[in-house]
Parts: sequence; C-alpha cells; structure tokens
Amino acid sequence: MSLASRLLRPRLRREPFGWTVALARPRLLVMLGRPTDRLDPAAPFEVHLTIGHRCSQGCRGCYIDARPDAADTMSDADWVWVLGRLARMGVFHLALGAGEDVPLERLASLAARARGLGMLPNLSTSGRQVTPRLTARLRVFEQVHLNLDGTGTGAGVNGRPPWSPGRLMALRILRACHPRVGVNLVLTRHNCDHLGEIFRALRREGIRSVELLRYKPAGRGGRDYAAMALTAGQGRVLVRRILALALRHLMTVRLDCSFAPFVCAAGFSPALLRRIGLAGCVGGSWLLSLDGRGALTACSFHRPAQPRDFRRLGGPGLFPEFDDWTRRAPEPCRSCRYLDICRGGCHVVAEHVNGDFFTPDPECPLVRRPRSNRPLFSRRMEG
Ligand code: SF4
Ligand code: SF4
Repeated sequence: MSLASRLLRPRLRREPFGWTVALARPRLLVMLGRPTDRLDPAAPFEVHLTIGHRCSQGCRGCYIDARPDAADTMSDADWVWVLGRLARMGVFHLALGAGEDVPLERLASLAARARGLGMLPNLSTSGRQVTPRLTARLRVFEQVHLNLDGTGTGAGVNGRPPWSPGRLMALRILRACHPRVGVNLVLTRHNCDHLGEIFRALRREGIRSVELLRYKPAGRGGRDYAAMALTAGQGRVLVRRILALALRHLMTVRLDCSFAPFVCAAGFSPALLRRIGLAGCVGGSWLLSLDGRGALTACSFHRPAQPRDFRRLGGPGLFPEFDDWTRRAPEPCRSCRYLDICRGGCHVVAEHVNGDFFTPDPECPLVRRPRSNRPLFSRRMEG
C-alpha cells in the first residue's frame, strides 16, 4: 500500500448520483457525479449510536434524557449485529456515545469491531471516566470529542472557563494520549455572545477542532427550550462571527446540520453552497441514529411516536416524513432559493415550537424576516 493511500485511507461507494469517496485524514467526503435535485446517497454516510442511557450526571438539557435507572434493551450481540449490517450497507463513519454510567470500555470494544469491519468510529464523551489507565483503549477511536457543558452552567460566560475542573483534566489527559481531540459545544443564547472568550480558552489548551451544536428540544432539552434557543439577533450574525473566529484562531469549526438555515441566510450563493456540499436536514438519508432501546430514528434528536425497530436497519422508506418534507414544503421555504440545500431547517425544532413537523424552521432568519433574503457578501466572495 502506498504512503498516500495509508494516510488518506480512501473508500469508494457507488451512489444514485455517482460516487462518494471517503477519506480518513483529512476527514472528508467527496461526492462525484452529476448533481441531481437531491444528493441522496445509497446509504447513510454517518450513523450515531447511543449505546446506553444510564447516567447519574443529571445534565439539564440532556437530549437523550439519560437517567441512573434507565433501562436499555440492546445487548452486545445486538450491537454486533448492527455493526455488521452497517458495514454491509457501506456506512463510512460512526459516532458513538452513551450516558456516562455506561463503561467506556464497552464503547471501545464495539469501536474495535467497527474498525475491523472498515468503518471509522468516533467518540463523544463528557470525560467523567477518562483516566490515564483508560487512554490506550481510546486510541481505537479515530477522533475523540469532549462535550463541554454549555447548557446549564454558564460555562464560558463572562470570563468563566468553558469547562469544569474535571472536564479540563479529562481534556488534558485525552490530549496527551490521542492525536485527534476536539470539543463539542452546544450553542445557547447564554454562551453565544462569548464565543470569542471560549475560542481563546480552547486555543490555550491546544484545541484546534470544535463542533458547534444547536440546542435541540429533545429529551430534557425540551423543558427549557424557549430560554435556551438563540435570539433572532444572534442568529442573524452567527455564521459571519463564527467564520471570523475560526480564521482568527485557526480553528476547524463544524456546524451541525440544524445550522443550515443560518448558513443560507448569511447570503452565500446557492451554487457555492451546493459546490461545498452543504446539507441541511439530512436525517434518514445522510444520517441515521440508533439507541440502546433498539430505536432506529432519522437523527439523534428525532423522537417519533413510534420508533422503528433496529432490525429494520437498511430497509426502504423508513422515514417518509423526512423524505417528503421538501416536496410538501410550505411558504416561505417553498419559494426559497436554498430549499434543496437546507430542506426546511431543523424539523425537530419546528415540531416543538409550532407543534407541526411540516412547518418551516421558525428560527431561520429568512423565515423570521422573509424580505431579508438578499446576499450580504459580494459576488466575488461567492466564487
Ligand atoms: S431534524 Fe434534521 S436538521 Fe434537525 S437535527 Fe435532525 S437531521 Fe439535523
Ligand atoms: S426559508 Fe426554509 S428553506 Fe430557506 S433557508 Fe430558511 S428554513 Fe431553509
């Protein structure tokens, strides 16, 4: 094997629109072919696995509603079956996580099996179990992301560090043992204006990779949603602020799928966003999620009244509500020039706020102010 293929570790998959090439490092998906109306792949690119719900941390906004007495039904044999199925489907990336009372060793064993099947496993953890003794086992993960608690503690606000002493310790242990450590931060109206301080603190700790997640009204997150969601003003300037901070601190910043309306509303041309592969609500298509109760959902935040059983994994037409959304899109999404990219924003937020899954994302700046759908950047920047 050549040095280039060992470093890049490319995988190729046939798609309805052409091909996808997945590279390990840099972690990149390249879609090749003639763009059709929708770049729907033959199988998900990434699947989120919540291995179990047991947790005694009691975090206020926990989107999986993890509890100390949570009952999970998936055995290790079930998970092994799932991994085999995902490998046969051609899935590239797995994101493993769990309540913090689920042993990380269990996740590491499943990750080792996933690697053996050719998939790249990543880990998200609050770091409570991270010790120097455990670190060798965590190297099986391609990337480890520490969840900063941005939701309940005012972390990162007004000069407070964006972590507790315990999380900082975990971050330092991880950094010492793993070459690719990043952080996940849930953006709320309370920490959003303090992103500059947070990025400075992250850089001081040598962190170069941040994943920003929008606060979602799933699990216990639903209780405080109105008090946590970004304000209209924050949403309007969010993407330009993040771009400026990423450049200033030389940071790789990933935004989760639910931020797509904010990127669209920043004024880039649809052609440019299509070219860079921006995708909004890709639940059930690019993404799938499976949890310790055997529930198969379109994404980690989707809580259907009747979850699909994990044995249906790989079956057709599992999430018609996601597949049909753009065809049924109401105004202003229906006449929005970003509809095929954004797909109406986050349907989990829309369902919670409007009580109707088939409504536009109420926090999209273009939904809030439809007349503001004008480019903010010059044509030169649009490329
Ligand atoms: S509903 Fe769609 S946009 Fe929202 S988190 Fe799920 S996949 Fe992402
Ligand atoms: S108007 Fe609808 S389709 Fe357009 S960016 Fe906003 S949420 Fe997305």
